[in-house]
Amino acid sequence: MDYIRIWTEVDIKDIQEHIIIVDDRYGFCPGCKEMGMRIDGLKKCPSCGREFKFVTSREAAQGGGRAFELIMRVKKKLPDLTFVDYGDYERLTGKKKAETLFKNIP
Ligand SMILES: [Zn+2]
Repeated sequence: MDYIRIWTEVDIKDIQEHIIIVDDRYGFCPGCKEMGMRIDGLKKCPSCGREFKFVTSREAAQGGGRAFELIMRVKKKLPDLTFVDYGDYERLTGKKKAETLFKNIP
């Protein structure tokens, strides 16, 4: 199987609500802050029931061969999830946060 990164228009809210953040072995649910979940075949958060459709990893953000290997391992464990670039995810959620902050300024 080959992989390429594709730019596509997204609903960042949909991603934010259905994402799991993983390292090599374990997952973190941003919804309920549950940590240390085994990710093999995981489809939803055992703690809050959040459905997972997207996955990202901070360790994949560096790029290069190691990041690629990590992504391949994650893809094997979570084949149904779309792997989102961590840098993109952080940039967009950070932007959203800034917008919310501005809204609160009278
Ligand atoms: Zn959760």
